[in-house]
Amino acid sequence: MNRPDVTELVPPDRTLMGPGPSDVHPRVLKAMSTPLVGHLDPYFIEIMDEVQDLLRYTFRTDNQWTIPVSGTGSAAMEAAIGNVTEPGDTVLVPTNGYFGGRMASMVRRAGGSVVEVDAPWGEPLDPAAVEAAFAEHQPDVFGFVHAETSTGVLQPEVPQLTDIAHSHDALVIADTVTSLGGVELRVDEWDVDVAYSGPQKCLSCPPGASPLTLNDRAMDKVLSREEDARSWYLDLSLLQGYWGDDRAYHHTAPITNIYGLREALRLVAEEGIENRWARHRRVAGGLKTGLQSMGLEMNAPDDYWLPSLNAVRVPGGVEAGDVISQLLAEYDIEIAGGLGDLAGEIFRIGCMGHSARPKNVIALLGALGSVLKDADADVDVPAGLAAANSAL
Ligand SMILES: *Cc1c(COP(=O)(O)O)cnc(C)c1O
Repeated sequence: MNRPDVTELVPPDRTLMGPGPSDVHPRVLKAMSTPLVGHLDPYFIEIMDEVQDLLRYTFRTDNQWTIPVSGTGSAAMEAAIGNVTEPGDTVLVPTNGYFGGRMASMVRRAGGSVVEVDAPWGEPLDPAAVEAAFAEHQPDVFGFVHAETSTGVLQPEVPQLTDIAHSHDALVIADTVTSLGGVELRVDEWDVDVAYSGPQKCLSCPPGASPLTLNDRAMDKVLSREEDARSWYLDLSLLQGYWGDDRAYHHTAPITNIYGLREALRLVAEEGIENRWARHRRVAGGLKTGLQSMGLEMNAPDDYWLPSLNAVRVPGGVEAGDVISQLLAEYDIEIAGGLGDLAGEIFRIGCMGHSARPKNVIALLGALGSVLKDADADVDVPAGLAAANSAL
């Protein structure tokens, strides 16, 4: 083997306005460059307690079982689904976006059988359809996506959905990856049994340690399983030894990611969770108004608009992939295209955490408008910028 000649790491200075990761606050980056301590060091044990308290604050829960799972959002997702689903369980999942499909794959791997509640991509679940699916299938667990990053749809009426599930003695698992710390989410008040999230969306932290919370009802099911969870790494009955009272070794915690998450959550607490939800609505509201005044159309109706992920219809005759590449190459701005049923049809513009700032919205509107004009789209860029400026 020749010695590889690799240059020093100097990443480009991007503005991250895609579906995640979002821009990371300098205080989080600073926290992540501080020295390591051991994962059982008394100092780190204190950090663990603080992170758990900060997560409870952010999730709006008093759940004892509130931890950062080592790994990305999908690890917290698999910890939730893989521990709560026992072989033979029936699990109801949605079909209205990309992440309901991922839930289904995880349920099957956990030995559960999947039943579906349908809604088109770009629309939320209708409680009546959920009720009908319960009557037909009597599922043991119901999973739904609170903020569907693939379609830009926010699921409304969450308490109605949890009521339906509980009246059928089922547990509810909520995907809150793109809602935690960005849009209103009240785990206890809405009676959500299990919620998982990711750090790199509205919390603006690098990926690596992902929030998870379970109430006693859910944890009772997990701890009384007849068969061990299929993943050793994500087995909550084992992880409780480390994150519970014993603080005994299970696997080495990603120390640096936990430092980062602590600082990201401290920023949430400093701002105040409700102020943070309001900021996302205000800044993303400026973005939405700007896009619409420019002549573009949002994919989701206003009632289901998801401030943290704005799905915009690609104007006719425009090649979405070219626009996305040009924004990155010429303006250092990252946005994304559609997935699955919406591939080529929408742009996905994130407005998450530290990225949800007026200066980013104005920069994005100007850059996107100019790239679309180059592609001969019928857009009125000055009108869009003026509308956004007055909304912000
Ligand atoms: C990003 C995302 C995930 C997966 O998270 P990763 O960090 O990519 O593993 C799951 N659900 C939703 C809704 C997401 O947006």
